This record gives sequence, C-alpha cells and structure tokens, in this order.
Amino acid sequence: MQPATQMWWFTLGRLLATVVVGLGAGWLLGNLWAGLACALALHLAWALANLFRLEWWVRHRNYADPPDVGGVWGEIIAQVVRLHRRKRFHKQRFVQLMRQLQRSTAALPNGVVILNAQREIVWFNRRAAQLLELRTTADLGMRIEHLLREPEFLRYLARQDFSNPVVIRPTMGEDSYLSLQVAPYGDGQLLLLVSDVSRQMRLEAVRRDFVANASHELRSPLTVISGYLETVAQDPALDPDLLGPVAEMRRQAERMTGIIRDLIELSRLEETDEVVGGAPIDVAALLALLRKDVLARPVHPHEVRVRIESAAQLIGDEPEIHSAFSNLVDNAAKYTPPEGSIEMRWWADEEGGHLAVADTGFGIPAEHIPRLTERFYRVDAGRSRATGGSGLGLAIVKHVLQRHGARLEVQSTLGEGSCFTCHFPPARLARPVAAADLSTETA
Ligand code: ADP
Repeated sequence: MQPATQMWWFTLGRLLATVVVGLGAGWLLGNLWAGLACALALHLAWALANLFRLEWWVRHRNYADPPDVGGVWGEIIAQVVRLHRRKRFHKQRFVQLMRQLQRSTAALPNGVVILNAQREIVWFNRRAAQLLELRTTADLGMRIEHLLREPEFLRYLARQDFSNPVVIRPTMGEDSYLSLQVAPYGDGQLLLLVSDVSRQMRLEAVRRDFVANASHELRSPLTVISGYLETVAQDPALDPDLLGPVAEMRRQAERMTGIIRDLIELSRLEETDEVVGGAPIDVAALLALLRKDVLARPVHPHEVRVRIESAAQLIGDEPEIHSAFSNLVDNAAKYTPPEGSIEMRWWADEEGGHLAVADTGFGIPAEHIPRLTERFYRVDAGRSRATGGSGLGLAIVKHVLQRHGARLEVQSTLGEGSCFTCHFPPARLARPVAAADLSTETA
C-alpha cells in the first residue's frame, strides 16, 4: 500500500477511534450523544490547532522550523517544506546566474544596450555607459534616437537592415569612432552592440593615405615614361627588333596607368561618406553611351542590347554611377567571346531601381563569387591581365553602390555567362514608377 493511502487509513482510523471513545464515554456517563459531541469537538480543536501552527509556520517559514506533527498534517507540512526548498534552490540559482551574467557583461570589452520595442533603453552595461556617455538614472527609459543623434545612426535605424554595423563619430573633431550594430531578438526587442573602432579607423586612414599618396607619386613618372615610349614607338629610325618590346612596354605602362587611376578612384571613394541626394541621372542615355563604348572596342561581343523598362531616373553622383556601370559593362565585354552577347537592363518596382548587366561569357566558378569585390581579386589572373584588367573594377563598383545605399548581386554559371545586378532603394528613384513605366529595346 502507498504511504499516502496508508496515512489516510490511519487518519480515518483515528477519527473512528475518537467516535468510539466518545460513544464509550457517553455510555458511561449516561448520555451517548454528549460523549460523541465532546470527542468530536476535541478532535476538531486538535485539527484547528494543527491548522493554526501550519499557517503560522508558512508565514514565518524563512526563519522558523516546521512544526512537528504526525499524520496527514505532518505529510502536508513535509510537502510544503519540499516545495519551499525547491523554490529557494531555484531562486538562488537564478540570482547566481544573474550575478554571473551581470559580471560577464560588465567585463565585456564591448558595450551592450538592451532596447525594447519602442527603442527605449531597458538596460546597458558599464562599457556602453562609458562609450555612449549614458547615465543610469537619467537615461534608462529614454529613446535611443534622442541620445544618439548622429545622422548615420538615425539612417541606419530607419533602414531596418542591420546586417552590417554603422560607424559613427560621436564627438566631431576628435579622432574617435564607434561601431554600432543592432541585433533584433525576442518580441521586437533590440540588442545594440557598441565597440570603439578608433584604432582600426586610424590604421585604415593611414593605409588609405599611403595608397593614395603612393598612387599620386607614381602617376607623374609614369606619364613621362608613357610619353617617351610613345615618341620612341613613332620614331621611324627605331630598330625593327625593338618594335615588339617597345609595344609591350607601352601596353604594360598603360596597364599601370589603369591600376593607378583605379587606386586613386578607390581611395577617393573610401574617403567620403554616403552620397546624400545627388542629381537625377538619365539611365537610358548612360546605357546607350556604354553600349557605344563596347561597340568601339577592337574586339567585342557581336550583340549588345539595352532594355529600358522604366523611365525612372536614378538619383546619385553621375561620375560615380557612370564609373560603376561602365566597370560592369567593361567586364561583360572583356570576359565574353566575340560570338557571345551582352544585355543591359534597367527596371523599377516597389523594391527600387535595378540595373542588370548579363553576358553569355566565360562565367565564374561559384567559390569565387563571394570574393569578387575584393581588391586585386581575379578569378583567372592571366585572362584578366591579358584583357588589361586592374582587379579593382568590382571593388570600385561595390564602393559606389554602398555610397548610394545599393547592393550588388552576382549570378554566374561557368561556361554559360554571368549577370551582375545593382539594386537601388526606392528613395534613389526620381519619378514614381507606375506613372513612368515604359519598355524600349535597342539592339
Ligand atoms: P578586372 O580588372 O580584373 O576585370 P574586376 O574587379 O573588374 O577586375 O573583376 C574581378 C574578377 O572577376 C575578374 O578578374 C574576372 O575574373 C571576374 N569577372 C568580373 N566580371 C566578370 C564577367 N562578366 N564574367 C566573367 N568573369 C568576370
């Protein structure tokens, strides 16, 4: 038999014994019912006393020992004691965990701020307080936008695309930079991670300056060398044996000039912030111009099509956009054999404006695609050199697109061709898409 069942039988037995003793006493005293009533009253008083001790102990359980009662009352008390111990154990574990969490977040080299769905500050660690100059008393409950008013950060929050961090300069004029990244979690809450990237930014600036200065310094001597090579090449008295080497030297000097030009452009793009605004660009006219450039190449794919499916204009920096699009079209021309074709397509939808440059060229193996926009990254170095590539074209495209809030998508199949698509946000379109839709094609 189960101990609990046993205990109930025991309690029932005790009640029966009380009834029997009461009846016995009543019979001896000559009043059966009075004896029974007295015995039951005593039993009830005993039960009430136990209930009272139990209630008193429950109220003072943190410092008083549990009452020592047998039977069903003892079992109830034992159950309560067990529950109480379990609760205390979990509470202690929770408090310990919280302390550990607090200590570890305080020791984190990065700042952490917890924001609720309304973007109000719920909690922050010590490092976040130092980096963002937050005060525990005054700033808890404040909206983060009211405390961090840097335009880059406000734009980042509004964009809702938190895949990359944003770098801000909290105190203008000083050489300090903070990297901020938002990680959404739970029910609309946000985790804001803050780190001091001043050192990295300074090193980056030193590297950029070095590359820009070296490129500028190399440009002048190279111009002189190219000039002399041209003069030598045109000299009728030039030894015919030297014609080949001089032509090769001119080709290499041209390549170097191209690399230096691209390096200077990259340094310039890296130096400046995101393009805000800009002028509306007639994409159709720009693509028509790029088509002419391809057809003017000595060797080019036999078919070059332009498809304009939207009259929406692109708002941006015209020379930069020209440079980005021309790099994509140039690549398509370089890496497509003469029997292949190129198609440039411009269209707009609710997601924004899109420019795709598709070719039926050599294609790119999938493992190279994620690294294409790295400086000097070439899939086939020999082919790139042979076509006069600097390895910087796609790095320039990536930077220009970043500065316009756009992104590059690359699709390619080896041996079949590639498609490079620039996706611009709707804010970069000059005219409402619906009103301006049209479809033209130039072959
Ligand atoms: P490059 O000046 O060498 O063309 P890019 O940065 O423009 O440098 O391109 C990087 C590499 O990506 C190229 O070397 C080439 O291997 C590959 N690539 C770029 N565009 C295409 C394309 N349309 N088809 C095939 N390969 C391409």
